[in-house]
Amino acid sequence: MKSKRTVSFSQKATNVFFHILTSCNLKCRHCYINQEQHGENALPLSTIKTWLAAFVEKNKKANIIFLGGEPTLHPDLSLAVKKAKNLGYSSITIDTNGYLFNDILSKVNPEEVDYFSFSLDGATRKTNDMIRGKGSYDRCIKGIRETISTGYKTSLIYTVTKTNINEISMMIPLLEDLGIDRFFIQVIGIRGKSAKIGQDKLQVSRSEWLSIIPDVAKKAAGLGVTATYPKVFLSPEESFECAGLVAENYFIFPNGRVYKCPLCEDFPLHSMEFRDNRLVNTGRLNENDLFQLNIPEGCVMNKIIQPANLCYKSDGSPEYKIACCMLKEEIQAD
Ligand code: SF4
Ligand code: SF4
Repeated sequence: MKSKRTVSFSQKATNVFFHILTSCNLKCRHCYINQEQHGENALPLSTIKTWLAAFVEKNKKANIIFLGGEPTLHPDLSLAVKKAKNLGYSSITIDTNGYLFNDILSKVNPEEVDYFSFSLDGATRKTNDMIRGKGSYDRCIKGIRETISTGYKTSLIYTVTKTNINEISMMIPLLEDLGIDRFFIQVIGIRGKSAKIGQDKLQVSRSEWLSIIPDVAKKAAGLGVTATYPKVFLSPEESFECAGLVAENYFIFPNGRVYKCPLCEDFPLHSMEFRDNRLVNTGRLNENDLFQLNIPEGCVMNKIIQPANLCYKSDGSPEYKIACCMLKEEIQAD
């Protein structure tokens, strides 16, 4: 038996996605980091601690996800994790490409880190390494096995593009073989390097998405893995909500910018920023102004930066709406 639910945005929990640096050892083809916008610096530990404290003050039930770039390249990641634990963050996740630098597995423990989340973009070495770079498949698999054998829980993130959608069903035996706890299917966002490649070469169509992704998630859940995928397409009768208006998600960059919407990250549209280590609102125009726009196509940022996944009827009305990129379907084995 499996249960499926739409994970709507929670106003009770805050999710903090903290890019503690932007540098990385890999050069993935579709990397979402835009260094022109977000710089190349790594935050000092003292600043990380101050900024972490600012978000638990906002909400006692806050989840933290450390990411980069590659966050394990930061020599003080383990100390940042311990600070987040002391501050009372409800859950702590480290997103990694699998290289697990600075001996991170031995510097933290499974009581402190709830999940290590690994990115793999192909079920085969050939496809993954074409996207993420030579050697990255083997290193990621090795990192997952080391992490699980040390006693941590793991997630696997698979970002779907035209290049790798044909391999996603092959992930099922791999998830089982590795012993993954959670499987996150992502849709490619057209930002960072993806914006230079172009939407037409990366994003899959509505029919491809709907014919493949929900079924793969169901099969993953059949293994006892919690499987999550973005809803992406809403029929005209389904209601649309913008997480920027109703949820508490924060995407922090080392140059101090704080966004509520990841699709805005290629632009200086952040609604908050750290100034002298104080979190302040930015002036207009910013992402908050865009969130208010009520359009028949649903997500306004989708229409601005990735309009090719919209279709219109002959009367000019959209055939469907695009959901907020943070609206997910979650399937769990009962
Ligand atoms: S591992 Fe992540 S941060 Fe590094 S290049 Fe790939 S997508 Fe970018
Ligand atoms: S992805 Fe779209 S709907 Fe979601 S927060 Fe951004 S603008 Fe709002």
